[in-house]
Amino acid sequence: MFELSTEQNELFAMAKDFADKEVWPRARQWDETAEFPWETLKKAHEVGLMNAFVPEEVGGMGLHTFEACLISEALGYGSAGFSTALGANELAAMPVVVSQEKGVWKRFLAPMVEEPLMAAYCVTEPGAGSDVAGIKTTAKKKGSDYILNGSKMWITNAGHANWFFVLAKTDPQAGAKGMTGFVVSADSEGVIVGKKEDNMGQRCSDTRGVTFQDVVVPEENRLGAEGKGFQLAMAAFDRTRPAVSSNAVGLASRALKCAVEYSKERQAFGAPIAQNQGISFMLADMARDLEASRLLCWKAAADVDAGKRNTYFASLAKLSAGDGVMRITTDAVQIFGGYGYNKEYPVEMLMRDAKIFQIYEGTSQIQRLVVSRHLLA
Ligand SMILES: Cc1cc2nc3c(=O)[nH]c(=O)nc-3n(C[C@H](O)[C@H](O)[C@H](O)COP(=O)(O)OP(=O)(O)OC[C@H]3O[C@@H](n4cnc5c(N)ncnc54)[C@H](O)[C@@H]3O)c2cc1C
Repeated sequence: MFELSTEQNELFAMAKDFADKEVWPRARQWDETAEFPWETLKKAHEVGLMNAFVPEEVGGMGLHTFEACLISEALGYGSAGFSTALGANELAAMPVVVSQEKGVWKRFLAPMVEEPLMAAYCVTEPGAGSDVAGIKTTAKKKGSDYILNGSKMWITNAGHANWFFVLAKTDPQAGAKGMTGFVVSADSEGVIVGKKEDNMGQRCSDTRGVTFQDVVVPEENRLGAEGKGFQLAMAAFDRTRPAVSSNAVGLASRALKCAVEYSKERQAFGAPIAQNQGISFMLADMARDLEASRLLCWKAAADVDAGKRNTYFASLAKLSAGDGVMRITTDAVQIFGGYGYNKEYPVEMLMRDAKIFQIYEGTSQIQRLVVSRHLLA
């Protein structure tokens, strides 16, 4: 658990090298233009860092959650928005993997091995985010098809996705037990993808609304039995929260590196600012948050890979890494002083990129809810 294997070390080193050479040098440009990092995603696919979760049974690498964490952290060290684009593919695919629907694996996951295809996880709606049971999208059975109607909001990768995982209500009166998961081809008639949202951070990541208007979805695209959708959507989080939290750890590592280097160079009152305990203790606190978060990610990942229930540790990892990266990047800006507030230096971008980790894949409040329910059960 505390030692990476030779293969894991090699994977992490390869992903970090990719982040250093291909991702970090472009991060500021992507932030300024908000362009989707297509060319670099294609390169990531070529070297085996993208869509590596596709099960071996359909020709993929069948990557474990632990290895997904290593890739996510390494790429987050380059650009958290870039790592999010890859992570959103995994989030969309995970309910499909968990459902064990082999026909859907063949039709939608297998092609992702051959080509750098994208996918998106469509759960949040304009009126329901944290309260997933409050979604309004419906799927009505008609012969051997379902007819989907509803609007989704804040969907990562939506503008580039070839297919969507969609959570809809097949029995609107039954709350969470009336929800069913579907895979919907992006080119289906009635799928309307909105404009790219102008977000605060992770600006290269593509976030949009998606509307489903009388979209015909064949029965074979249903994941599991009717009513199993909520379970599938949440089971996906047990596997993706460790990896998304690792993305935050990667971003935090970048911020800490920038802060350490700057504090050794910047002179004030005739000495490097690092010589003030007020600064060096901030660095120590940043390292504490970072290392503790990484260990929680690894624990949550190792547990789920070993077939153990990890919801508690996955939420702790997300809470620690999400709140931690916000503190770390805010302190990095503080250590840079006025220069930290300026776009000539990277830390203001890192601070903006950090904020979303307290919001998506369950807000920090929702993680506290999961953890406290576990403690009080
Ligand atoms: C950039 C970005 C990308 C995203 N990508 C995706 C995606 O790919 N797929 C997808 O489905 N969704 C995605 N989301 C949606 C995201 O998961 C939601 O925004 C998030 O879950 C919060 O939902 P909400 O925005 O509706 O806030 P709300 O649920 O309305 O919450 C508002 C505030 O109230 C707090 N709150 C709510 N309930 C409680 C409670 N019981 N106790 C204490 N506090 C509470 C929340 O923590 C938050 O601070 C994305 C969002 C963004 C901004």
